[in-house]
Amino acid sequence: MSGVEGRVALVTGAGRGIGRRTAEILAERGARVMCTARSESELAGLGLDFAVADLGTPDGCAFAVDETEKRLGPVEIFVCNHGIGSAHERVIWEQDIDVWSETMRINLDGPFYLSRLIVGRMVEQRYGRVVFTSSTAGLVAEHAGSAYNSSKHGLIGLMRSVAVDGGAFGITSNAVLPGWVRTAMAERSAAQEAEDRGMTVEQVWDARAALYPPGRVVTVDEVAEAIAFLASEESSGISGEAIRIALGASE
Ligand code: NDP
Repeated sequence: MSGVEGRVALVTGAGRGIGRRTAEILAERGARVMCTARSESELAGLGLDFAVADLGTPDGCAFAVDETEKRLGPVEIFVCNHGIGSAHERVIWEQDIDVWSETMRINLDGPFYLSRLIVGRMVEQRYGRVVFTSSTAGLVAEHAGSAYNSSKHGLIGLMRSVAVDGGAFGITSNAVLPGWVRTAMAERSAAQEAEDRGMTVEQVWDARAALYPPGRVVTVDEVAEAIAFLASEESSGISGEAIRIALGASE
């Protein structure tokens, strides 16, 4: 077996954006892919197995893992990509406690619940590939984003814990840290920033593009391809790494 062929993959946040493209690439390369998120209509359009679940709850996470095992078998590739963004956040002294809790519940607690359930089975199988989608905000804080920043920093700690605990059992664990990617999530924050700063949405995107040496933002495909490589058998030498997908930008 090579690449991802024949492997059972669970991709979270697969309804749209980075997760959707990752699920498509893994399926094209022969993986047996289970897709999960909350929006049934988005998942149904993919033409792959799917389970509708809120991954910010222990029950939702258990359901997604159970459904995968029942229909496809134990998870061998776990792409933990789902998340909510920071468009509704405020500077720390104005931050709403509920916004903090919701972000941590979805972006960090869910990945812990899922890892706990999935990695134990990987240990039994002596094989596993775990890839988390963190963010450049997992290393450098964005303005008015304490919950998102903290959840994405935390995800890197979780990724490293899985790498250390699972390393003796054929399991690798890594994180991709994308810069700006023009998805639904980032469009929401662009709209909010445009309103806050009296700019147009396109001006916000031009300013974001200017952060990167090529003068453009990162594409969904660029992130999904990096995830697909880390999900493959050939990435066996890489574990515990937080890999920026940021076009050579210094931050
Ligand atoms: P999208 O909004 O396009 O996709 C997010 C996905 O996560 C959706 O499928 C959404 O589905 C799912 N999701 C959100 N909350 C939950 C939940 N409670 N339970 C289950 N699924 C959930 O955003 P992106 O593709 O941009 O984001 C993917 C990842 O990339 C995120 O972790 C994000 O933080 C990260 N990222 C994105 C960047 C960007 O600029 N776009 C930059 C850096 C990192 P649904 O709402 O239906 O549940």
